Amino acid sequence: MRASWVRASAPAKINLHLGVGPVRPDGYHPLATVYQAVGLLDEVTVSPADTWSVTVAGDERLALSDVPADGSNIAVRAAQLLAEHAGVKTALDIRIDKGIPVAGGMAGGSADAAAALVAADALWELSTPREELMGLAAELGSDVPFALVGGTAVGTGRGEVVVPAMVRGDYWWVVALSGQGLSTPAVYGEFDVISEELGLDDPEIPDELMEALRAHDLEKLALSLHNDLEPAALRLRPALSDVLAAGIEETALAALLSGSGPSCLFLCSSRDHAQQVGYGLRSSGRGPVTIAEGPVGGARVEMVG
Ligand code: ATP
Repeated sequence: MRASWVRASAPAKINLHLGVGPVRPDGYHPLATVYQAVGLLDEVTVSPADTWSVTVAGDERLALSDVPADGSNIAVRAAQLLAEHAGVKTALDIRIDKGIPVAGGMAGGSADAAAALVAADALWELSTPREELMGLAAELGSDVPFALVGGTAVGTGRGEVVVPAMVRGDYWWVVALSGQGLSTPAVYGEFDVISEELGLDDPEIPDELMEALRAHDLEKLALSLHNDLEPAALRLRPALSDVLAAGIEETALAALLSGSGPSCLFLCSSRDHAQQVGYGLRSSGRGPVTIAEGPVGGARVEMVG
């Protein structure tokens, strides 16, 4: 008997290294990044319908009103792309339960696209080969292939060429959320202004970071975390510097911006340490704070009804 609905989840990503090169003629920036999937999840539930629709639910602090509730929602575009690819004619009702901050630099939209691909693939019983799903994911957005794969991985190209990395152990992060998102194009625009002043080399993955991950050496990791977009995001939202500094005062091993921001990441040595740093940040009024463990797996079917 065919399923009447399928629910899939997909994780948020953070960038342990985000190296950005000069803008390419096609408008994209070449990236050399190390992704890690962390335990903040969105869920996407799909069921057959006569016309396409999407609803969005979740914690109001996640700026849900910024998520489009029409065909421009990337979860709808993902399911429609798969339908076109496989010659499926049915439409879907899509429900998104957000646990990932919107426009927070944690690729929540990309997670929804990956979850929608996996959920629709299961509902329509397509068993699309992995490489084909990865190809569709890359068409949808640079971070979508990683949301399918999860774990810890090196991303090159514009981020869509994903190769899993050798990593030992678990990593604990405190994430300070911001009620107001930062536009990724605006941050890249500011990055272009800064980089025109400074000049840019092609981005590379630092060896020290990969060594730190292979050895689970947190001190070395703390010194190797890096985000090329941070100066641009801080120029647009200077108050984030205080949040980053506050995390270090609360004994976090390192602080950096997640992707294009404004979410701030703090590396901690254990769950207890993360709870302590999170508590300190919350008590000093640094706003909603959550704890996330990485790496976790990529998009997957959670439930079928
Ligand atoms: P990235 O770091 O991948 O650029 P982000 O994590 O900063 O993105 P997202 O939460 O992915 O930001 O959302 C970016 C924008 O995409 C939103 O402001 C919204 O207008 C649009 N969008 C389209 N579909 C979705 C979706 N399903 N969830 C969230 N945002 C969506």
